[in-house]
Amino acid sequence: MRELRTEPPESTERSLSELRELCVENLLACGEERVFFKDRRGRRILVSAGSLAGLARGGRPDEVIGMTDVELFNGDFAEAAAADDRRILETGETIVRKVRSVDVPGHGEMWVQTTKMPLRDRAGRIIGTFGITKDLTAQVRAERALEHLALHDPLTGLPNRALILDRISQMVARARRNDLRSAVLFLDLDDFKEINDSLGHQAGDQLLVAVGRRLAEVVRASDTVGRLGGDEFVVLVDGDPEGTAVEQVGPRFLEALHRPFPLDAADQPVAVSASIGIAEVAGQEPAELLRQADVALYRAKATGKRRAVLFAPTMNSAVQQRRQLVLDLEVALERDEFFLLYQPIIDLSSKSVTGVEALLRWRHPERGVVAPADFVGELERTGMIGAVGAFVLESACRQAAIWQAAGHRCAMAVNVSAEQLAQDRLYDDVVAALGRSGLDPARLVLELTESAVIGDRPETRSQLTGLRELGVRVAVDDFGTGYSSLAYLHRFPVDILKIDRSFVADVATSNESAAVVHALVELARALGLQTVAEGIEERAQLSWFEREQVEVGQGFLFSEPVEPGSVEAMLVAGAPAVTAGRSS
Ligand code: C2E
Ligand code: MG
Ligand code: MG
Repeated sequence: MRELRTEPPESTERSLSELRELCVENLLACGEERVFFKDRRGRRILVSAGSLAGLARGGRPDEVIGMTDVELFNGDFAEAAAADDRRILETGETIVRKVRSVDVPGHGEMWVQTTKMPLRDRAGRIIGTFGITKDLTAQVRAERALEHLALHDPLTGLPNRALILDRISQMVARARRNDLRSAVLFLDLDDFKEINDSLGHQAGDQLLVAVGRRLAEVVRASDTVGRLGGDEFVVLVDGDPEGTAVEQVGPRFLEALHRPFPLDAADQPVAVSASIGIAEVAGQEPAELLRQADVALYRAKATGKRRAVLFAPTMNSAVQQRRQLVLDLEVALERDEFFLLYQPIIDLSSKSVTGVEALLRWRHPERGVVAPADFVGELERTGMIGAVGAFVLESACRQAAIWQAAGHRCAMAVNVSAEQLAQDRLYDDVVAALGRSGLDPARLVLELTESAVIGDRPETRSQLTGLRELGVRVAVDDFGTGYSSLAYLHRFPVDILKIDRSFVADVATSNESAAVVHALVELARALGLQTVAEGIEERAQLSWFEREQVEVGQGFLFSEPVEPGSVEAMLVAGAPAVTAGRSS
């Protein structure tokens, strides 16, 4: 007790047992821990503020003292809990129940993990049970929503691109084994835009759902109907043993759409037609099959719509275009045709610029300024992304170092492709760029896609871990669009989640999107990650994220990607001028 002399007098006056009581009281009141103590008959002796029983009574833990599980919870959960209690009383063991759901009255379904053990008196006799409950509801909700969302189109509920590609692989394998004629159909409605424009988006959505259903009616159970986005549908026609000619399936689908569609917004059922491109399975990669079907579809549209066209290799002028693109890209770096624009990233509470994202542009001698969507894929396929990526890092760090020297607080986010990580040069490239520019590593953020982060190469992990040790932060870009579950987030070296634009677009108008994004935000918070809302275009979206207390956002509402000079002006002014014309 001598050491306690230096403490304030009141703490020395308290007895140890009194102190212990106070500790327990504080623990039970803090609401962070869900703790409960029960006697041998399952009646509650003491519960914490956040305990499930307390929640069930509208947050009044004192009201549940003396009550049993049967009195508080529904049948299954109460019975299982009582069975666990009996076992603990008999054997004295500790029981851990992994995630399971409980219906908490007044609160709805919650997912929890419970650890329960015996409560003993000082002689070691078991006088009851006690336990700790962990609330995993936000995680489970987000995981479930994402799992479904990752593989299905939210509007029609049909398989999306990721799932379609997976099904194509299976179909290709089956066709090879059994020597069947299978095909991929790419179907696109003719003049869908006019329906959208004249009857409104809701009518357009209603039509898309109905078209999806109609297509599903025509196919056999073994076939798959999916939606790639917009008015683009895909049908996988599994070959049948009789060998139906692939040429015959197109007309079947065209006919299926003949009957007009009743829509709420139109007095009369609306007639639509479609164009179809077909590619026959012949050992190609799934993505190549889709591409061939797309080329055939393009031909169907170009030759008058309302028709189905089978892909033929002669249609490959697209291939020639790609060859030219590669040739042009090969000299672009030497000729200094690449440059960066910077899109401000905004602190949503102060509306000030906290950072920028570097976005690559290509000034093509004939085509003018080309966006990354039109050439980054090709850089990746050819491996040229390594050199171009190093150029991007170098230029972005140099620019960020200039702002650092001018005293601005401004982070620099750089997009990194999975291919750069695969080439195992990212770590060295970053270290070189930081070294040459003198940029503080804490100002650099690397944006990677989900698939790049979760790929299970140990080299990838060690590169990312090494970079984070330098102080560089890692963001998961376009989060929510990848083919993955959330489970990996705990395990991988990331700091920031960028919620994909496609979710952000709907938060203010769709309850489903709002629920998913809400769960994502909660999860990110639980994991201590920063959340960035990408692609905020409208004030309604901004308000929604403000209400969710998301810290950071980016989008045309604040600023499009701009030249460094314009960023500087915003840094000096403290904030971008929010575009008045874009409010909804
Ligand atoms: P990203 O990393 O998700 O970048 C955001 C994209 O969304 C940018 O398109 C940006 O202009 C656009 N955007 C931002 N706010 C809004 C908005 O409010 N509405 C809409 N509709 N769009 C918005 P950008 O510059 O065309 O880049 C497209 C993609 O290309 C990027 O997506 C990124 O994945 C890739 N990319 C860009 N620069 C690089 C680079 O240097 N290296 C690599 N590997 N990829 C890059
Ligand atoms: Mg990005
Ligand atoms: Mg993004």
